[in-house]
Amino acid sequence: MKTLLLLVAALSITACTKKKEQATDGPIIATVGMIADVTQEIAGDKQDVIALIKEGTDPHSYNVTAGDTEKIKSSRLVLYNGLLLEGKMGTVLDNRREAGHPTMAVAEGLEDVELIGGEEHADPHLWMDVGIWSRVAEGIQKKLAEFDPDNADHYSKRFENYRKELTDLQTYAQMALSTIPPERRVLVTAHDAFSYLGRAYGLKVMGIQGISTESEAGNARISELVNFLVEKKIPAVFVETSVSDKTVRALIEGAKAQGHEVKIGGKLFSDAMGPAGTYEGTYIGMMDHNITTITLALGGSVSKEGLNKKLSR
Ligand SMILES: [Zn+2]
Repeated sequence: MKTLLLLVAALSITACTKKKEQATDGPIIATVGMIADVTQEIAGDKQDVIALIKEGTDPHSYNVTAGDTEKIKSSRLVLYNGLLLEGKMGTVLDNRREAGHPTMAVAEGLEDVELIGGEEHADPHLWMDVGIWSRVAEGIQKKLAEFDPDNADHYSKRFENYRKELTDLQTYAQMALSTIPPERRVLVTAHDAFSYLGRAYGLKVMGIQGISTESEAGNARISELVNFLVEKKIPAVFVETSVSDKTVRALIEGAKAQGHEVKIGGKLFSDAMGPAGTYEGTYIGMMDHNITTITLALGGSVSKEGLNKKLSR
């Protein structure tokens, strides 16, 4: 009996200390998969990370559900992109931040990173430049270390290993995309999500819609792009997994009417990763898929299996 009492006492002490260390018991919440994946890579088994916006879903027009609001409230930390990527959810998260909930907008406050579009209308799609996303990963590592100092060394070691994988991806992107003949280094997509990729790896990038999918794609913009495709004899345009392909098909029809055949070069992951549990459902896999698909469709030469020989095609 005495032993049992001691055991109960010991258990309740442990429970108390544990509760005191962490403000809430919920997981870390991230908005998009690209942030959740990088955070989980760095956190390893020390934290659970959950993405609110799933595969194939557009963050710009995403509607916050009651379930999301509950998850955000009970989370220990919220990570979001910021720069208006998350549309309505961004407002909810800004409010949580104001209310003192532990939050981090990973794209904000990156020193020495030149944002496309300037401060007023900054382009939020930073993950498209692997070098910049590596800086974002470093910021997440620092946040985790500050939040959970007992495991700071663990986060630092895991980040260093992950950074090596990102460096390999960066080298692969530079190598692969440079095999595209110079006159064909043009990337036409449904919305303007690839400007950082274009700037980092030397491609001209043209989106039918602007940096948010919430803007209208006008007929004038479509005619302008059709003329460009015909004039420059661009062989392929690209659809995106999280955006309707309607406007891209209008481009193909328009070019056909002028006697130029344009193909769909493939589906790119712009604002959402591939299915959970697959290689394309990781940041590295999604970028490997994008780089390899773009390279092959525009006439460059690279292995279909991609950087890590894991692409499913
Ligand atoms: Zn976007």
